[in-house]
Amino acid sequence: MCQGEPAFQPHIPKIGFCEEKNRLRGKFLQAIHEQCVLQGRQTKAVIDGDPDLNRFDILLDRAQHKKDRAKYAWIAHVEAHQCGEG
Ligand SMILES: [Zn+2]
Repeated sequence: MCQGEPAFQPHIPKIGFCEEKNRLRGKFLQAIHEQCVLQGRQTKAVIDGDPDLNRFDILLDRAQHKKDRAKYAWIAHVEAHQCGEG
């Protein structure tokens, strides 16, 4: 799973570095991390026998949408700005 992973791994800017792309990628990574944290909490709640598991469905659904939005914003920027790597 994703526990113990750092949310951010700042990279040294290189030539052609796009600040906006990096910002959008950071938001995407943060959204992934939030989803991971929630999944970890849900796992713990199942193990602990928490009776209120449904709340995680709502939170995970929200986190999923947030992640998707962040991902599409990032992809859309790279396509429009032609600042993809390679
Ligand atoms: Zn760009």
